[in-house]
Amino acid sequence: MQQIADSIRHSIRNNHLKSYVYSYPSKRSYKSLHNIGIAEIWHTGDRGPASIYIHIPFCRYRCTYCTLFLTTQGTEDIIQNYVDKICEQIKFYAKYTGRKTVVSVYFGGGTATILNEKQFGQVFSSIQHGFPNIASSAELCVEGSPDSMSEELLDFLKSQGVNRISMGIQTMDSAELKASGRPYPVSTTISAVENIRKRFENFNLDLIYGLSGQTYESWQNSLRHIVSSGPLTISLYPAISRPLTAIYKQQRLHPERYIDDQTTYAIYDSNVEFMQMNGYRQESFTRFTRLPENSSAYAQETSDFLGVPMIGIGAGARSYNGKYHYSFDYAVDLNEVGKAIEDYLSLEITEHSMVRYGIVLDAYEERLRYFILSLTLNQLSRAYYSSQFGRSLYSDFLDVIDALEAEGCIEPPSNDKIRLTRKGYKYSNLVAHHLFSSHVKTLEERYVPR
Ligand code: SF4
Repeated sequence: MQQIADSIRHSIRNNHLKSYVYSYPSKRSYKSLHNIGIAEIWHTGDRGPASIYIHIPFCRYRCTYCTLFLTTQGTEDIIQNYVDKICEQIKFYAKYTGRKTVVSVYFGGGTATILNEKQFGQVFSSIQHGFPNIASSAELCVEGSPDSMSEELLDFLKSQGVNRISMGIQTMDSAELKASGRPYPVSTTISAVENIRKRFENFNLDLIYGLSGQTYESWQNSLRHIVSSGPLTISLYPAISRPLTAIYKQQRLHPERYIDDQTTYAIYDSNVEFMQMNGYRQESFTRFTRLPENSSAYAQETSDFLGVPMIGIGAGARSYNGKYHYSFDYAVDLNEVGKAIEDYLSLEITEHSMVRYGIVLDAYEERLRYFILSLTLNQLSRAYYSSQFGRSLYSDFLDVIDALEAEGCIEPPSNDKIRLTRKGYKYSNLVAHHLFSSHVKTLEERYVPR
């Protein structure tokens, strides 16, 4: 751990920017799994909590920075076949996990709001049928884009119990919107925000900084506009350039159109300042909310990061329960995605066909996962660690905790929780990346983007 602690200190001092951490281990570390079936992973009588994630891998266009698993070639028939398949998968899972208490359901993508009312109704009905124990406090969230948020759809989602909407806006500047590959005008975004605001108290809007041609001033304008529309939660993402995206190629051809790491961090600092001035507290590197302390603005991510099992439904969804993390194969390139979706649609759903790629964590990796993910959410608890793993958090991570304290990233430990400082939030993702085990890093390095 001492070596890791030293490299964390070095990177913080050099302001290295890493992409944000959305899971550990990531799907890039997944490999073929053999002879593991659903019955080994899930236990029929288990009534404990679980989340359900529904992956809808369809969009009408591909944004220049997007690396999600999705296709723009979804015809009406393909989308309907896909909906039928996810309902079949939900029914199958219900045999093993239907007694669980569902604490959150999230429709993500792609663009989940590409589904029509009838298709959403079909999926909700499968969930309610297969999983009768949905907690009354469960977060039911649907993610979508401004050009697919019709008033009729929003009314329908509300009637089905959806209580949170998340929408990727990315920018309020027409030229930036166009350059990022979105073919609708800013007025569409304005109407969509208004339609959501009229119906849902709890909604999140995403913005991205670091888009092609974006300036500090244009970014500030977008942010001011969005804050004035009053969402409960706003997520601010730095644009990350990854292989196979258009932005990755453009950045190499026209680096002058993009901001560098130092400017990105400068914008990040000004965002934190601005959001606090406007009554938003920081919940993670990217997320700001008007909700009070001790509540979560994104319940599914919080429970995921704290280890609540996840039932992943759809071609690209991750599932996990304890040491087992798995999904189907995953791709970004349009042709490869097309094949992966075809494979999913023609899959015969059996106990073993559902568990094709993944990773089985050892006890050390499970502890590391908790440390990495709960740190980024400012939820690291000594008591939870010892009750969960029967060990002392301090003994296992002393060098890292000392390094974080010496760098001013955490408050001097005084009670159960290890609390990030403002600087700690800023570098939380960088710290998390340093903590990835060498085994997971090696697997990720071997991953060939496709
Ligand atoms: S950013 Fe959203 S709308 Fe754009 S391609 Fe990705 S999933 Fe689709």
